[in-house]
Amino acid sequence: MWLYLVILLDDASTSYCHYRPHPQSLSQSGGRKSLMPIDTLKNGIRFGMKENLMIQFVYPERPLPEEYNEVVESIDHSKIKLVNATTPNPSFPKEGSKDADVLVVNEWDTLPQKAEVPIVIRTSKDDFFARYKEIFTLLANAPRVNISFTDVEAFTEADFETYKNVLAEIGKEVERLFVKGKTPQLNLLTDRMMLTQMNNCGAGDTTITLAPNGKFYVCPAFYYEDEKDCIGDLEHGLDVKNKQLYKLEYAPICRHCDAYQCHRCIWLNRKLTLEVNTPSREQCVIAHLERNASRELLANIRKHGTFMPDTEIKEIDYLDPFDKREEW
Ligand code: SF4
Repeated sequence: MWLYLVILLDDASTSYCHYRPHPQSLSQSGGRKSLMPIDTLKNGIRFGMKENLMIQFVYPERPLPEEYNEVVESIDHSKIKLVNATTPNPSFPKEGSKDADVLVVNEWDTLPQKAEVPIVIRTSKDDFFARYKEIFTLLANAPRVNISFTDVEAFTEADFETYKNVLAEIGKEVERLFVKGKTPQLNLLTDRMMLTQMNNCGAGDTTITLAPNGKFYVCPAFYYEDEKDCIGDLEHGLDVKNKQLYKLEYAPICRHCDAYQCHRCIWLNRKLTLEVNTPSREQCVIAHLERNASRELLANIRKHGTFMPDTEIKEIDYLDPFDKREEW
């Protein structure tokens, strides 16, 4: 069942996930680096209203013409915007980002120290390993912090070990904040503690994306990778081939998994295994290191008193569910 419609207002809309925004292929394919035509935007909103979808607008860094703002405000929505990159180390996001519902950080030097809305930090693994302590202040001063790796496929066995240690260090800070009475939210560590079932991305299952060309895509990454890879358009409606493949029940590995916080990124799956419903080892090991670090964090917080007494994250002896396939 469709629940969300992501509308890319511009070919240069920010990425808020693993994929790279507006790569060269777009600007090379006929100079399409452009704003969504206003009639396409209006028709997209009409489609979302008819289907009763929650709309998420993804903004480019440059400001929109005023007439676009009026159309955007004509419907309930949320806004995803980039933290303004021209202000290094802002204590608060700049004016243009102020009405965002989610703010994206693409460069560590633009990381705010506090925010009133969730912050998504897109980072390479190496930058994260080098600078993860910079999120500590934000953890205490933002409603939520999400980390999204831009190079999942580049994780090596040595990186997995480093990631495990980094998660343990961040866990100590999260524990300290909980003990002080704060409730930090960090997707890598606190989501799994709160979840009792899979809570994945939903691209192609509950969420679709409308691109500036008036066509629908599984998610923005599919558009930026190959604009011919569409699943319908505003004129003819949706046409999703093998829709069941995007569902958890048809994901042969994921449906046996309890790393409930995992993105289960359909785009990464296809990129790395050529199947939308089969994850790569990197995605699974990363998610299991987070799962196990969440388990550790839960135990450590409980040393200070009762905390989520009904929650249990079992001890497991694997990092990739694929290794356990003979037991399913
Ligand atoms: S950890 Fe692997 S198996 Fe589990 S949900 Fe994520 S991608 Fe699927």
